[in-house]
Amino acid sequence: MRLLDDKVTIITGGNSGIGKATAKRFAKEGAQVVITGRRQEVLDLAVKEIGHGAVGVCGDVAANDFHQRLADSVGKWFGGVDVYFANAGIIKLEASAAVSEIGYDEHFAVNTRGVFFGVQAISPLIRDGGNIIVTSSLAATKILPQHTLYAGSKAAMAAFARNWAIEFKERRIRVNILSPGPVETEILTKLGIAEADRPGFEAHMADLIPAGRMGRPEELAEAALFLAAKGTFVNGVELVVDGGMSLT
Ligand code: NAD
Repeated sequence: MRLLDDKVTIITGGNSGIGKATAKRFAKEGAQVVITGRRQEVLDLAVKEIGHGAVGVCGDVAANDFHQRLADSVGKWFGGVDVYFANAGIIKLEASAAVSEIGYDEHFAVNTRGVFFGVQAISPLIRDGGNIIVTSSLAATKILPQHTLYAGSKAAMAAFARNWAIEFKERRIRVNILSPGPVETEILTKLGIAEADRPGFEAHMADLIPAGRMGRPEELAEAALFLAAKGTFVNGVELVVDGGMSLT
């Protein structure tokens, strides 16, 4: 018996980085994986790569009607959900003085509102004893340069998750937070770090992280698997997976 046999799991932002690594890990453990992402062609490629009957639903987590459409489809296809991993997120590094109203709204629409309304739409489908994982960030608790807006949009995860853990207690649904430190994913390219500057950036990060390197998506996937399937008495916690960076 594998850890997620017969379990239905939804992973938002499952076509890239941490989400895709987790989708692969969950699928290997027997899960029926449903991933979401914004671009159909990237989603299709990821679905193929994950295999094991994974399916993709394309849409924007910042659009509230997307979550209901996802819930309706998954309900129709699989009858319910066991693990909801609200992982999609964006980041733009900027000093607060440079943040525009549009940039502010975008961060909160994806990172904060997208998670809230995702849980609102999907939670009725979650079977008793299931669980929710929300992705926050080390930046929510550690002061990092130019992270103020992103940190604010992620800090809400801790409050959401702890409140939901109590709201859903009658159904024995656990709710936990996964907080990565710096991890090698496409988000670094999206940050605007040119390929040529990447080795320098990674060396700088390695200096700041007691582990001596950045994290790998597969290591975050392992932590997500722990929260989803192994940590059956773990509820309302923030699991920081950062190679010890929070200590420095
Ligand atoms: P990534 O860019 O590889 O993946 C982000 C995913 O979110 C992608 O699949 C993308 O399509 C999806 N996404 C973004 N905006 C969306 C929208 N509006 N609608 C639907 N999907 C959307 O990056 P990642 O590093 O794998 O990030 C995953 C999560 O981890 C994010 O929440 C991120 O903030 C968080 N995180 C990452 C790091 C890191 O260093 N990589 C550190 C801390 C936290």
